[in-house]
Amino acid sequence: MSFTVAIDGPAAAGKGTISKGVAAHFGFAHLDTGLLYRAVGRRTLEGMEPVAAAQALTAEELGQGDLRTAEIAQAASKVAVVPEVRAALVDFQRAFARRAGGSVLDGRDIGTVICPEAEVKLFVTASAEVRAERRFLELSAKGAEVTREQVLSDVRERDARDSERSTAPMKPADDAMLLDTSDLSIEAALAQAVAVIEQKRPATP
Ligand code: C5P
Repeated sequence: MSFTVAIDGPAAAGKGTISKGVAAHFGFAHLDTGLLYRAVGRRTLEGMEPVAAAQALTAEELGQGDLRTAEIAQAASKVAVVPEVRAALVDFQRAFARRAGGSVLDGRDIGTVICPEAEVKLFVTASAEVRAERRFLELSAKGAEVTREQVLSDVRERDARDSERSTAPMKPADDAMLLDTSDLSIEAALAQAVAVIEQKRPATP
């Protein structure tokens, strides 16, 4: 039987950490759907056309190299506005969501478009300043030469593009639970997510 947890929200809100924690806690499989758009974005930086890149995408590509750079993040959010790119990635995500044993998918449109029937929907958010600071620390730790101002302006630019696009814009599903992590430790945010899922999970015999 499938059980799907949809976790959406803007960049650096804590979706990834919460998703991984939830997957580890319940033994669910986890798909970071941002990696699909990042892999397509990377191909376009190499000169490939976005729709062709999305149609040719393989699961192996998601594990190759570092997809979490600032340059690839911007390229990802540019290809993500193209409806044919999004359409090419739907089947892979839905098949993943339906796998037996439970799944967690995190992204921007999981609760609204990819899995509107998900048993649990969370929309994880935080102020742009808090998110930019987290992303700045993450990128600096990897040795990237970025400034706080640059990261904040990138975060705002990506938020605007993701929430204003006409196909599958980033927004909470009507039945999503909102989780603002601005003033929460990661442990506290994860504990809240686990408690919500616990309530909806079918009782195990
Ligand atoms: O989550 P992450 O920062 O890795 O996502 C990179 C970009 O991919 C986002 O800014 C967004 O434009 C796009 N994306 C999307 N839908 C998803 C996941 C990511 O449009 N489900």
